[in-house]
Amino acid sequence: MSLYVILMGVQGAGKGLQAKLIEEHFRIPQVSTGDLFRAMQTRTDDLARKVQDIMTSGKLVDDDTTNAIVADRLAQPDAQNGVILDGYPRNQAQAAFLESHLAEKGARVNAVLLLELDLYTAFKRAFGRVTDADGSSYNYYYNADGVEFSWRHDESAGFPPRLEASLRGSDARLKRRPDDASADAVIQRIDTFLETTQPLIRYFEAGGNVLKINADQSIDAVWMDIRQALESL
Ligand code: AMP
Repeated sequence: MSLYVILMGVQGAGKGLQAKLIEEHFRIPQVSTGDLFRAMQTRTDDLARKVQDIMTSGKLVDDDTTNAIVADRLAQPDAQNGVILDGYPRNQAQAAFLESHLAEKGARVNAVLLLELDLYTAFKRAFGRVTDADGSSYNYYYNADGVEFSWRHDESAGFPPRLEASLRGSDARLKRRPDDASADAVIQRIDTFLETTQPLIRYFEAGGNVLKINADQSIDAVWMDIRQALESL
């Protein structure tokens, strides 16, 4: 049986980790449109340039281009038993394309997995995440053992005192990922997710194959829920 799964969830819901676990267990590849578009950055043809410009502007790539790239990926040999779709579809037109494309192959969307997380937790997971120079991750809110906070006063720089974090016994500052660096940017991404996702969820709910998973649990517990939900399809 083939398994076509759409993975949805706000940033911080753990989509990336869970996609890896589904990939290994069910032996179907993860297809992330964001990754497919980023992979085009090394190309210099017109289409790749167009996609790069759109991504830099923070807008969405047009549906025809996106659908064509997904159709091409779904035709690859490793995708013949299904895929986990991440970041696609992002609107109803893409969803409708996907459904008719799969129907032509005699397949269908087997499940829409929605990783549910309350938005304040989503915010804290993204905005609280910091890494040290070695890439080890900490979280201001959840995993701050060994992390020291201090106020940095710098009157000559003309800004109010700033809260900074470092590892105990080290002067090296812990840093946020650039795209999580401002609270506004994190909130903006959560808003965009809500605006684009709610209508899609309603669309798929009408088809009756949305599986809601509580993402506010340990990675293992979320995975157990996903595994059970997919195995009982
Ligand atoms: P992501 O990594 O999913 O956040 O995607 C990064 C960028 O790729 C987005 O900001 C869009 O420009 C583009 N992109 C990814 N997926 C889609 C999609 N399904 N439809 C349109 N544009 C997309």
